[in-house]
Amino acid sequence: MSELHKFLFDGVPVRGMIVRLTDAWAEILRRRAANSATGAYPGPVRELLGEMTAAGALMQANIKFDGALILQIFGDGPLKLAVVEVQPDLGLRATATVVGEVAADATLSRLVNVTNHGRCAITLDPLRKLPGQRPYQGVVPLFGDRHEKLEKLGEVLQHYMLQSEQLDTTLVLAANDAVAAGLLIQRMPVKGESNLAGEHANEDEIGRNEDYNRIATLAASLTREELLTLDVDTILRRLFWQEKLLRFEPRTGAGGPHFACTCSRERVGNMIRGLGQDEAHSILDERGEIEVGCEFCGRQYRFDPVDAAQLFAAPGVPAPGSSARH
Ligand SMILES: [Zn+2]
Repeated sequence: MSELHKFLFDGVPVRGMIVRLTDAWAEILRRRAANSATGAYPGPVRELLGEMTAAGALMQANIKFDGALILQIFGDGPLKLAVVEVQPDLGLRATATVVGEVAADATLSRLVNVTNHGRCAITLDPLRKLPGQRPYQGVVPLFGDRHEKLEKLGEVLQHYMLQSEQLDTTLVLAANDAVAAGLLIQRMPVKGESNLAGEHANEDEIGRNEDYNRIATLAASLTREELLTLDVDTILRRLFWQEKLLRFEPRTGAGGPHFACTCSRERVGNMIRGLGQDEAHSILDERGEIEVGCEFCGRQYRFDPVDAAQLFAAPGVPAPGSSARH
């Protein structure tokens, strides 16, 4: 069963998390493989999307935010778009759009950053929007400080966390067909008086905290193979046997990471209304019905001419874009 574990390092300003997605990740892959229009993802896409899904779960669990965390990569290679959405209850879904051939040994840059134009976006979309409120979005490139292409998603996201939260973060990610897993280690801000002056002030600067640096080095030594095959207790014991860990009750089962798609007939109907009546009619004239498949879960929604007429005639239904006022 999929699981997420949080822990603190006693007495030092460092916290950590491990996620292991098994059934939730298998469900995402199964649904894609069952989609006759697309077929299964190529191997390198499975690996990247799995790492993104694990990272999305870690990032959602790491913030206090009532809304969806959406992790996207806009690629300039054969992988055009990869999307992971994680809800506060760790319900998650993922999809990717592939155009053309993907080499079996394609690296991250060959997949999404051929000409250094690939981008990674992190969006926080509040569940209950205030009037006029827009989702927060941060965007980072897929290259490092010297414009060198990054070949690990973990490094890309470490840059993002450093930029957005001003906190040192180490992320180790790995995925195969059975498991998508990740380890996150983060320096916690030094609180209170110690921030004000003296030698402690330096410890709150990026890259300067010795405890964090020691623990981050241990975390970075975790291999892909270990992360994918070892259970959480064994990983923590092997990496941090000299540290004192305070562990929280793991999130698993219904309260843990699980596959969940937020699509609905109502949402698809709103999308069709957004197309406008003329466009909807021209699709109906051409095909006899409007058929929309959910890219995340594969569910098919069909609207015949009667359904479509109801969409545009229904009284009391808010017009598209007006939902923010309700
Ligand atoms: Zn769906």
